[in-house]
Amino acid sequence: MKVIVLGSGIIGTSSAWFLKKQGHDVTVIDRQPGAAQETSFANGGQISVSHAEPWANPSAPMKVLKWLGKEDAPLLFRPRAELLQWLWGLQFLRECTPARTADNIRQIVAISEYSRQTLRALRAETGISYDCLTKGILHFYTDQKEFDASLPAAQLMRDLGCPRVSINADEVVRREPSLARIRDKIVGGDFTETDESGDVYQFTTGLADKAAGAGVQFQFNTTVTRLLHEGTGAAAKITGVEIIDATGRHQVLKADAFVIAMGSHSQSLLKPLGINLMIYPGKGYSATYRIINPEQSPVISLTDDGYKLVVSRLGDRLRVAGTCEINGYSRELNTARCEAITRRTRELFPHACDYDNPVYWTGLRPLTPSNVPYIGKSKISNLFLNTGHGTLGWTMGAGSGRAIADIVSGLTPDLDFAFTGMERVVKTTLLPA
Ligand SMILES: Cc1cc2nc3c(=O)[nH]c(=O)nc-3n(C[C@H](O)[C@H](O)[C@H](O)COP(=O)(O)OP(=O)(O)OC[C@H]3O[C@@H](n4cnc5c(N)ncnc54)[C@H](O)[C@@H]3O)c2cc1C
Repeated sequence: MKVIVLGSGIIGTSSAWFLKKQGHDVTVIDRQPGAAQETSFANGGQISVSHAEPWANPSAPMKVLKWLGKEDAPLLFRPRAELLQWLWGLQFLRECTPARTADNIRQIVAISEYSRQTLRALRAETGISYDCLTKGILHFYTDQKEFDASLPAAQLMRDLGCPRVSINADEVVRREPSLARIRDKIVGGDFTETDESGDVYQFTTGLADKAAGAGVQFQFNTTVTRLLHEGTGAAAKITGVEIIDATGRHQVLKADAFVIAMGSHSQSLLKPLGINLMIYPGKGYSATYRIINPEQSPVISLTDDGYKLVVSRLGDRLRVAGTCEINGYSRELNTARCEAITRRTRELFPHACDYDNPVYWTGLRPLTPSNVPYIGKSKISNLFLNTGHGTLGWTMGAGSGRAIADIVSGLTPDLDFAFTGMERVVKTTLLPA
């Protein structure tokens, strides 16, 4: 079958890889000059199965209200005169009930764990080399109330088969000696040894190279403008994708099946077809610093709960990422937010990095209200979805690619996940409802 994948971030690239492995003739289209140039470029680097709790949870409405208008808030909702943003906000509130949150966690853990195993297998199979650490993730807390609240969440993760262990402050520092200077501020932590971290850009471009070597065609510098369709109801079909190619020419590319993996931009492409995805961009920041004193730099991936920042060591660089603004599609850098990241990182590891030459970046997380992505079928029989991976697209990436390849090939992936447009097979071995 000829399949066109739209988008070459971590999601589109891994989709293309697995579709090719299943014997399809695959073309990937992306407007950028190479793979992973947008949200999959400089994220926090964590493969974090253990912290699958979505932002939409019972404590979120009060927190979001408290943070309204606060420039340095970890999650900032800036109300706009935009219907999608308000509908998204309302659905976010709906996802905050305990029952919805529990089901969302169950699904996110299932796809994330499946993905972590897939990533490991991919590494072994392809030998892709990228800055990665398989030493776990250590989440540390500086607020007693937040730490106390994390204990049942950690238990829930253990119930779901994820070895997230709650530890005291001394144990935090024993595991990560570079935190010794703030020992008196730390109230506890949790550690998950099976989690990992790594450079999503290096991995995705490495996988794109391997995929190209295996025969996947990549058409870069090519903008998707429209999907063409014919028929209605069950007979509806995508007949082609309209593009503007690298030379500026308008063309229509034909295929048997189409996979949408355009991150935050998937929503506007599908809307004219009457497919209303609830995906809104959540702008986040990262800062990357050159490490000048490796012995003072963290050796495992960290999450600083108080500041909602993640820290990943990527070879001789330190990547620190976080914050989320629900405020449209702009990727403009806000100096106050950038400086706040550097201030905190310098406070934690004052001599570890060259803080005078940070590389700042912003990316748009393709957020669904529940943080559960759309993976599966649309109402048009040859149009498939792999998008809306929100805060955990790197964590869920490899597995989402594998799952969509199965679905396009007419198979059902074997995990407890509500694949879009498909019947759910709930696994009773996981958390009781
Ligand atoms: C600050 C920050 C920190 C993060 N940290 C983590 C983390 O630690 N762990 C984790 O798991 N996740 C993390 N994430 C989330 C993760 O990065 C995303 O979920 C993931 O990158 C989304 O991948 P994607 O392939 O769906 O989207 P993208 O990488 O954005 O890919 C979409 C592609 O579609 C292309 N495209 C869009 N429109 C068009 C068009 N019209 N024509 C042609 N091409 C088009 C784009 O060029 C792009 O290449 C973080 C995100 C941010 C912003």
